Amino acid sequence: MQLTEPLARAAARRPGETALVFGERSRTWSQFADRVARLATVLRQAGVGEGGRVAMLAASSDRYIEYYYGTLWCGGIVCPLNTRFALREIIEQTTDAEPTVLIVDDVFAAQAEPIRAAAPSLAHVIFAGDGETPAGMLNYEEALAAAEPSADAGRGGDDVACLFYTGGTTGRAKGVMLSHGNLMFNAANTAALTGFDETLVHLHAGPLFHLAAGGRALSTTVVGGRHVVLPRFGPAEVLAAVARHRITALTVVPTMLSMILQQPDFGAHDLSSLRAVTYGAAPMPEALLRRAMEALPGARFMQSYGMTELSPVATFLAAADHRPDAPAQRLRSAGRPAPGVEVRVADADDRTLPVGEVGEILVRGPNVMCGYWRRPEQTAQALRGGWMHTGDAGRFDEDGYLYVVDRTKDMIISGGENVYSTEVENALAEHPDVVQGAVIGIPDAKWGEAVHAVVVLRPGAGLDAAALIAWCRERIADYKCPRSIDFAAELPLSSVNKVDKAALRKPFWAGRERQVN
Ligand code: ATP
Ligand code: MG
Repeated sequence: MQLTEPLARAAARRPGETALVFGERSRTWSQFADRVARLATVLRQAGVGEGGRVAMLAASSDRYIEYYYGTLWCGGIVCPLNTRFALREIIEQTTDAEPTVLIVDDVFAAQAEPIRAAAPSLAHVIFAGDGETPAGMLNYEEALAAAEPSADAGRGGDDVACLFYTGGTTGRAKGVMLSHGNLMFNAANTAALTGFDETLVHLHAGPLFHLAAGGRALSTTVVGGRHVVLPRFGPAEVLAAVARHRITALTVVPTMLSMILQQPDFGAHDLSSLRAVTYGAAPMPEALLRRAMEALPGARFMQSYGMTELSPVATFLAAADHRPDAPAQRLRSAGRPAPGVEVRVADADDRTLPVGEVGEILVRGPNVMCGYWRRPEQTAQALRGGWMHTGDAGRFDEDGYLYVVDRTKDMIISGGENVYSTEVENALAEHPDVVQGAVIGIPDAKWGEAVHAVVVLRPGAGLDAAALIAWCRERIADYKCPRSIDFAAELPLSSVNKVDKAALRKPFWAGRERQVN
């Protein structure tokens, strides 16, 4: 199983068809494959050997997808760096991964010098921007033009293909080693589950340094679909791109979907080409999902649940489960295990719990990571007993559908009762004046932790905290209802547009340690 094989296949079968689109630029499959084979030569000449790391610090673009395939073609390991990180964190990632080559674009070129100074492993920096090449860097386009295309290095199977850092939602991001086999399994599964084929025109709207978008780039190539790339997410840009490029499928995290639906001119765009919306990476409030399905009646909706460590998909909620004749509670589910993936819910001793009981979600299968990069203890801990311990709490229903109730670290323990923040967030999101709500535990002398919500209201809404708490009381048990609510213009977001609960908790927990189980 080689990740590069689908690229070679598409180039052989459909050489003249458009493969990559970015702004005004577009490339055919044959051009894409040729550039990848040249990039492999450039990287090899720069000293990247078998398993050598190639890091990239760049906004998403068509070239970013070339970096993936060029590195794999040359036999190296793709190491995407988080562009939202501060320089200090980027240096931490770089000194951790020890790449031989760093690729930067115009925006991040200025950071290359301090990174190079701190990371002695770096032999070369490649400038893949459109401006003038800074001194001491190789120019990407010039180097490609001068290089001869080289043959595929032939790595595959258990060889590590990518080193992705996790989202950093719960602390310091960890490097996750995923093999060709891991990622091909996931890409092929995704292709089968979504039903995508070569008519796919996929909009990559999330950052390609994260596996949510990176994995979609791999699965789009597997089916021979067209990649359309946005440099960064923006709701207006997404709507314009769908209309302009006749996008057929879009992958979003819930916050992105909420922002897209909030666009004042949403109805003015021609979205008739959109046949599929896939979502995941964070809990999806049912009310938001229903609004989206109403607003986009021509699109099939599908959800994945997973994590970087799982390449990333573990379970899948199919389009059929979103149809009006499906049981209503399905829309709160993360679906059923993907083919070939085993999922169980277990207690603290890893014993499988009966249907309906909440425990930790454990996963086993060909999609489970090789391990955390250079962290043998954390790897052994996460993979103990041969199962990936997700750190997510969930339960199964009688029909085999999984419900992700919370991250165990986000769960609030108030007066000895477990409160799952997602359940409270769902109740808040049902209110017509609420755009988005996030629920956290804050220190409380009496209850240990108290349930606190931060809520974004629709413009002009006159809702107050007491009324919203009363609304929750009608829907969920009293002890789960927020004791206090702050209203905010927006919620802090992580680099992949997930709600940053650590940032929300920070002012409340200053100087104190939060106990998590
Ligand atoms: P870090 O591990 O660095 O704290 P992270 O867990 O956010 O960051 P990712 O691998 O991007 O890094 O995210 C995986 C997590 O996202 C899962 O463990 C789960 O908590 C959440 N998640 C993913 N998909 C879903 C989904 N469909 N529904 C609910 N939560 C989801
Ligand atoms: Mg995680």
